[in-house]
Amino acid sequence: MYNLVLFGPPGAGKGTQSEMIIEKFNLTHISTGDLFRKHLGEGTEQGKLAQKYMDEGNLVPDKVVIKMVELKITAEHDSNGFIFDGFPRTVTQAKALDQLLEKEGTEISGMILLDVDEFELINRIMLRGKSSGRSDDQDINKVNNRIKVYKKETLPVATYYEEQGKLNTIVGVGSVDNIFSDISEVIERLPH
Ligand code: AMP
Repeated sequence: MYNLVLFGPPGAGKGTQSEMIIEKFNLTHISTGDLFRKHLGEGTEQGKLAQKYMDEGNLVPDKVVIKMVELKITAEHDSNGFIFDGFPRTVTQAKALDQLLEKEGTEISGMILLDVDEFELINRIMLRGKSSGRSDDQDINKVNNRIKVYKKETLPVATYYEEQGKLNTIVGVGSVDNIFSDISEVIERLPH
């Protein structure tokens, strides 16, 4: 059983690589960004709570995110393992995730950090915005804010896992298949 954290700034390719990883390793995908967009689309209470933060490219409060992930983990109790995409984004979320997994008798096997330079990230996000229709991908000020928030609030999460010997950094630039092959090699070496 693998439980992976796929980590990196917005636009690093986490969504694309997640799709390939879940297929190869038969994992359950938990993308908090996708879950919030689904809640928004359905007009749920959680969606309404998240909207103003998402619109500005700020983080949704930890309590809301953690509750949503807890419900998802509990619902997928029989899963073969999870890939967390876009979560945890704060050290508080990382600690809560450790506790949630402990309750399930398991733990994070490893974190994979996709490393992409800022210039490339901004280009990719603005390009994605043309087809995704995501308003937070189309406004340069929101994109810049998301990268700023990543550096300030989310990067410390990498240190949190590094201290546990769980951080694996992969160059996230190049062909999608080559990046996936590097990720697969790392996953296959993880304890499971
Ligand atoms: P993403 O699709 O991962 O880029 O997420 C889109 C937006 O959803 C982010 O800019 C945040 O507003 C919100 N969001 C997604 N995941 C989290 C999280 N783990 N913590 C806080 N906010 C989140």
